[in-house]
Amino acid sequence: MSHPNYQLDCGWNALLAPRVPRPALQQDLDTDVAIIGAGWTGIAAARRWQELSPGDSVTLLDSSEIGEGNPGRNSGFLLSIALAEDANPSQLERMALCNRLTGDTMAQIMADVERYCAQTGETVDLQRTGTYRAAASSAGLRSLNNYRAFLQAAGLPFTELDRNALRERLGSNFYAEGLYSPDCYLAQPAAVIRALAAQLSKDTQLFENTPALEITRVGQRWRVKTPGGHVSCRQLILANNAFAKDLGIGGSRLVAMYTFAGLTPPLAAAQLDALGTDANWGLLPTHRLGSTLRRTVDGRFMIRSMHSYEKELPRAHIETELARRLHSRFPSLRQTGFDKVWGGAVGFTYNGGALWGEVKPNLHISAGCNGGGTVKGTLLGRLLVDKAHGLDVPDVPRLFGSASWMPPEPLRVIGFKFASTLESWQGRHEL
Ligand SMILES: Cc1cc2nc3c(=O)[nH]c(=O)nc-3n(C[C@H](O)[C@H](O)[C@H](O)COP(=O)(O)OP(=O)(O)OC[C@H]3O[C@@H](n4cnc5c(N)ncnc54)[C@H](O)[C@@H]3O)c2cc1C
Repeated sequence: MSHPNYQLDCGWNALLAPRVPRPALQQDLDTDVAIIGAGWTGIAAARRWQELSPGDSVTLLDSSEIGEGNPGRNSGFLLSIALAEDANPSQLERMALCNRLTGDTMAQIMADVERYCAQTGETVDLQRTGTYRAAASSAGLRSLNNYRAFLQAAGLPFTELDRNALRERLGSNFYAEGLYSPDCYLAQPAAVIRALAAQLSKDTQLFENTPALEITRVGQRWRVKTPGGHVSCRQLILANNAFAKDLGIGGSRLVAMYTFAGLTPPLAAAQLDALGTDANWGLLPTHRLGSTLRRTVDGRFMIRSMHSYEKELPRAHIETELARRLHSRFPSLRQTGFDKVWGGAVGFTYNGGALWGEVKPNLHISAGCNGGGTVKGTLLGRLLVDKAHGLDVPDVPRLFGSASWMPPEPLRVIGFKFASTLESWQGRHEL
């Protein structure tokens, strides 16, 4: 499949006022730069290209609509420090640079959103709330200890919390131990991506509902086929994450891994009062197959959990399983279902490293941010454009890793099923 085709609407986007999408491409077009994918990576790349080469025409294609597609489907954690998976206490200098780049990128996102709010008078929910990480079992505690070591080595602030302190703040008795780190923002992700897309310069033409179906090299140019017309460009950037492989790039390194989320209706004040002192919080799992949780500013609970390989799970299964996991953490919500459940595709790489750089003449890619690409995708999208302009850029593969090779099918799916069954069993108390 060359692009995502979700069975369920994005729950965050459904909470926003309707937005009129930009028209789909219906003609053949010549452009200096074409970017496939208007997500965190693609929008950042388009904006950076316009900053560095203001005279160039930039064409941005997305198979979905801004807010409805993958970039609006995440859990809304915008970490302003590098992710735990990127953390290695023995490499302090590398970590410090990753953290500085990530923090600067987060500050740019915040500034863009504030500019958007000032221009439109709208409010966009993006707040520096910090984040919890908590473990329920020995498997989770081992990861929590690694993360604590990372924070300590990097000299980053955090608070340790025992079961009682977590219960008091979050209203759940589920977790044995946790950490609170202030270096995270929580967002309404569909609102943020809409705000970022609205900041694109007038010289960037955005076409929504326009999937790239095929890319070919024609002479010195790249040609992108879409249902309504072709785009011919000098430079082509692939910012469509795991779906790049279906355009012939990254097939040995990328997989579309689906994960699922649900949002409850707003809870009654009396119910919320019994659910901890924090009113707007987020919790990331310590085990990588664990569940992400949020309590939102408007009094909803969100849970994200489960993974499936290259295709979505049936709706009934998603709903039942998310409810089971939410209710095991908050038994008082047993009667509360979901307003919305949905899935999204993560660009998964075996070792967590990104697929980044110029892979063919004038064909650039940034993909494979795994489960944490809001800020990191923005950063890598900008750096990709800096590199295409011949600027000095930090050594991205050294800093953030480089996607490793995966065996072809059917070995790959067999390996995934085996690893996921084993890890799910090992981390069963964290699911
Ligand atoms: C449920 C869920 C929760 C998550 N939670 C978090 C979180 O809290 N924090 C975090 O940092 N990350 C989170 N992630 C991961 C995060 O969403 C991704 O890492 C991030 O969206 C990557 O950004 P991107 O712009 O590189 O790619 P994407 O967001 O995947 O954007 C790619 C864009 O390309 C478009 N596209 C794809 N194929 C084509 C094509 N052929 N033609 C045209 N357009 C195409 C898509 O419509 C999409 O708009 C989560 C992911 C999911 C699914």
